[in-house]
Amino acid sequence: MTHKLKITIRGVVQGVGFRPFVYRLASEMHIKGWIINSSQGVFIEAESDKATLENFSERIRTERPANSYIQSFESSWLDPEGFTEFEIRESKEQGSKTALVLPDISTCPDCLDEIFDPNNRRYLYPFTNCTNCGPRFSIIADLPYDRCNTTMGEFEMCPECRAEYTDPLNRRFHAEPTACPKCGPKVTLLDNNGKLLAEKNDAINMAADLIRGGKIVALKGIGGYQLICDARNGTASRELRTRKRRSEKPFAMMFPDINSVKAECEVSAEEERLLCSVEAPIVLLKRKRGIDSVISDECAGTNPYFGIMLPYSPLHHILMRELGFPVIATSGNISEEPICTTEEQAFEKLSGIADVFLVHNRKILRHVDDSITRIVNGREMMMRRARGYAPLPLVMDGIKGTVLATGPHLKNTIAVNKDSNVFVSQHIGDLENVESINAFKNVVSDLTAFYELKPDRVICDMHPDYISTRYAESMKEKVQSLQVHKVQHHYAHVLSCMAESGLEGEVLGVSWDGTGFGTDGTIWGGEFLLSNGAEFRRAAHLAPFRLPAGEQAIQDVWKTGYSLLYSVFGKDCDNLPNIEFLKNTAQTRLIRQMLEKDINSPVTTSAGRLFDGAAAIAGIRNKATFEAQAAMEFEFAAESYSDELKTNDYFTFETVKNSNGVYEISWSNIIRSLAEGALRGEAKGLLALKFHNSMAEIIVNTAKLLKINRVVLTGGCFLNKLLLERSISRLEEEGFKVYWHQRVPTGDGGISAGQMKFASYLK
Ligand code: ZN
Ligand code: ZN
Ligand code: FE
Repeated sequence: MTHKLKITIRGVVQGVGFRPFVYRLASEMHIKGWIINSSQGVFIEAESDKATLENFSERIRTERPANSYIQSFESSWLDPEGFTEFEIRESKEQGSKTALVLPDISTCPDCLDEIFDPNNRRYLYPFTNCTNCGPRFSIIADLPYDRCNTTMGEFEMCPECRAEYTDPLNRRFHAEPTACPKCGPKVTLLDNNGKLLAEKNDAINMAADLIRGGKIVALKGIGGYQLICDARNGTASRELRTRKRRSEKPFAMMFPDINSVKAECEVSAEEERLLCSVEAPIVLLKRKRGIDSVISDECAGTNPYFGIMLPYSPLHHILMRELGFPVIATSGNISEEPICTTEEQAFEKLSGIADVFLVHNRKILRHVDDSITRIVNGREMMMRRARGYAPLPLVMDGIKGTVLATGPHLKNTIAVNKDSNVFVSQHIGDLENVESINAFKNVVSDLTAFYELKPDRVICDMHPDYISTRYAESMKEKVQSLQVHKVQHHYAHVLSCMAESGLEGEVLGVSWDGTGFGTDGTIWGGEFLLSNGAEFRRAAHLAPFRLPAGEQAIQDVWKTGYSLLYSVFGKDCDNLPNIEFLKNTAQTRLIRQMLEKDINSPVTTSAGRLFDGAAAIAGIRNKATFEAQAAMEFEFAAESYSDELKTNDYFTFETVKNSNGVYEISWSNIIRSLAEGALRGEAKGLLALKFHNSMAEIIVNTAKLLKINRVVLTGGCFLNKLLLERSISRLEEEGFKVYWHQRVPTGDGGISAGQMKFASYLK
């Protein structure tokens, strides 16, 4: 079968024989398509079978011309067009030449060699970089990208560095942040009162000693502070949890090298490539079973995945080589606030968490979190897009004028465009505290200032109370001519996936998540939207249920469970044995009264909440300490069960057409079967697996009813790998074309991109 892979490469790829190289490679491999050079990078579209295309991108990366350097390599699978030859296309430069702000790139192999060469003048120097690597986005104040416009401007280059910088044949020719031990920034180690403990390499060594001794170090990294401690040390890890008030959410880790990762996790070739890529994101990897893991249970609990990254800055490399064991490397922030970037913030927020601070005097201008990715169905899937990726543009045609998309409420990102370049911001976070809201405002002014943009349109969510919505409205108050458009949340999810998949025309968007404000004023989240891009119609949705105590349902998942049981069994549900949360009759009575009297029990069609409630009924967990925890553990229970015993069994369900001609999918029998399974004492894993299978069948069945061949899977629920992979394979079995996210997050981080896509349909 023919596939098409779209590849975007940025870096030193022009004037180094890159196009002829790709042309020769494509011809040799009988690949059809084209390559084009533009001021924004090299674009390739290639068609062949999947394995050949995977091999092709691997060979581009490994066999690239000697003088080329790949600063970013992004690829996505699109529908094939049926190319008949491979050609080098003429670049037609349209519009202004946009100098792009590049992302922060991990240390290159040449710089690494120097850092660990005792005879090199940059031996163990933690700020070594060159034109091929180093900080960019996190240190740029303004365009053009010159040293004086970065936070390196205050460091006067020494004669040796200047000689390299001005020599066109040198790897550091115009490497704007270049530095050496003589002239560049230096690290210092401070105690949590700010008292100097050590400088330069003594500081790193002392920090390493303290980590070995079970202490917690706040490290000033590339895009902000990280909190670091020995991942093998249960006491240290527990202490970090207590101090950070993060009870159960897994911690990301940094491992010293790829082999140490392979000792703990299953690592496919794709995953290894991603871990070792120039973007160096956190990759979610399946833990090996039945091994004697060195990682403390405090790091990820019973989660079958570890979030792991490799060292990506010289400081990380030096520290990790000294340590030689995995560390927790979690964001240096309090709960959901943005990560700290300055010493002032770090001491204010983190002095109660970290024992010492490993800091330096190169300023970080904006927060850029570590990105999170995973491989799903053999493809990369972005979960949190920040360091290494942001702020590289997506290309979207048809947007008129300048548009600002203010994004959602949770996991916020914003987007602005310059012509067809859409700049989606780095992950900002939940707009629920002053710090995040300030960060949101800063990112808006930051991205618009970079490209000197004055939006004439603002796109926001429909939810009247979202900070991002109110912000859009407040802009309108200041500038009367500004047009504000509100886009329904789940429709924006669908549009974001359509945009990155290059889809136009009619699709069925399966948009499943936790919450989004519906056009009828209720909370949606289990939606089937028919859309041609420009418009949408809600063609089907999960049957509504109530959330007693509203927002609390996110934590108290048993309340949702109770509401589901109550709607199926009525009052009798209180007498169901074997369901843990029913035992607390005082609690359940209160909830029942709320449901009976309809007090603070909003109606929702949320698939995310349905997963939560079902997880509680199946006995997985009654209370969540972070959003979707119950649903995640439900997925893991199903997954570990299916490792040994596979079943395609699912609980049956009914679909009815309501008076508006909209299909409503009843989950009643699914919940009834789940409860009955629990009564029989069926294995939790089996119940979980059947539930997941049922949800996938709901998607397949609804797609059949609506008779739309192209199905888009989007929304936070599809972070659930089991649900996503099961839905893809079942839909494909039934002959549907399935699309899901690759470069843009399926969760709310992708909403701003979808809002921007909406703008492309405006006149
Ligand atoms: Zn380098
Ligand atoms: Zn120097
Ligand atoms: Fe959402």
